[in-house]
Amino acid sequence: MKKTVYIVAMISSLSLVAQDFDSLINLKALKYEANVIELRHWFHQNAELSNREYKTAKKIANVLTEIGLIPQTEVAKTGVVAVLKGGKPGPVVALRADIDGLPVEERADLPWKSKMIGKYNGEEVPVMHACGHDTHTAILLGVAKILYEIREEVPGTIKFIFQPAEEGAPAGEEGGAELMVKEGVLKNPDVEAIFGLHIWSQIKAGEVFVRPKGIMAAVNEFRIDIEGVQTHGSTPWTGIDPIVTASQIINNIQTIVSRNLPLTEAAAVVTIGSIHGGVRSNIIPEKLYMLGTIRTLEESMKETVLKRLERIVHKTAEANNAKAKITYQVSYPITYNDPVLYEQMLPSLKRINGDNNVHLMTAITGAEDFSFFQKEIPGMYFFIGGAKKGTDPNKAAPHHTPDFYVDDSAMITGIKSMSTLALDYLKDNK
Ligand SMILES: [Zn+2]
Ligand SMILES: [Zn+2]
Repeated sequence: MKKTVYIVAMISSLSLVAQDFDSLINLKALKYEANVIELRHWFHQNAELSNREYKTAKKIANVLTEIGLIPQTEVAKTGVVAVLKGGKPGPVVALRADIDGLPVEERADLPWKSKMIGKYNGEEVPVMHACGHDTHTAILLGVAKILYEIREEVPGTIKFIFQPAEEGAPAGEEGGAELMVKEGVLKNPDVEAIFGLHIWSQIKAGEVFVRPKGIMAAVNEFRIDIEGVQTHGSTPWTGIDPIVTASQIINNIQTIVSRNLPLTEAAAVVTIGSIHGGVRSNIIPEKLYMLGTIRTLEESMKETVLKRLERIVHKTAEANNAKAKITYQVSYPITYNDPVLYEQMLPSLKRINGDNNVHLMTAITGAEDFSFFQKEIPGMYFFIGGAKKGTDPNKAAPHHTPDFYVDDSAMITGIKSMSTLALDYLKDNK
């Protein structure tokens, strides 16, 4: 009897252990779930385009202020950042949510359907949260509420990053995670690790998908210009044909993935998506250009692809007496889950969500600008399900489409996962 009393006294005098945090998180996630859903509906109804998230940013700042935090606004144009200093000493961790919508017209008949209009490429367009960033924003605000309430027990500092323009800044503008990093969002206080999530309409709500290393691909977009000598289509020997050169280049670059990469390690893609040259059947044109994209999941494979592309394009052009130039356009790093951080944090995701609900996923050849944070510090990115329970997730509308839909029941998994990852990281890295 005495012994029991002694142990109880000891536990209450120590800082909270993992299980205590879990029960607190579970309780508070339930407490704030309805509020987070309400916030989510507000963000959904007020969707704004990349780098134009003015109302969204204002709402985020207002909620953070109500919580008791001091928001820093206009970070990377329309981003909002807040720092929560825990009552106990410890490291600094960041949690990130992207906040922008897309030029898509919502078709679903919801009471909180978006009726927003924005300007994209000079044209008025309907705007919708067709990628679910409304859910990310609301989830992170819920996490801020919970962690603020237990701040005295928090062993370290948490930086909440509300990031604009994940879908890409308008032409000619900077934006997104890259600009946030450039503006020093990971400094002062210096962030040691970062966590981010994406809702997924085609995964059942309540489920979590994650993997170590490359989870989403690096993007390298390129343009190839080929210059020949124009001539009559009936006398090709009097000119240099950029069309034949281009077709050889297109064929030759197919060997990069099929013959130069260790395909059992990770996937890779080289695609030519557009080709422009020539006006009529009997003119061999002087020049043409092609646009393409490279997707890779391993840094060394990316280097190989870029090297082989250069060589094939220039040598094939040379063999045809033509000239070729490659220019690189958009480039995103690999969304790369640091394997050490992954090993450390996977048990936390499993504990809070249940072992059976956390799955190892295959990599995605799409890209995500969370990768710019992970280029600077170890980070972990994961997916949570957004499909209504009892429906077939495979039949759910894909992201970026008018029927895209995320069920409100998905919010709680995000709230619990992000809160737990932050707390466990701080506790384990003191
Ligand atoms: Zn998207
Ligand atoms: Zn997205």
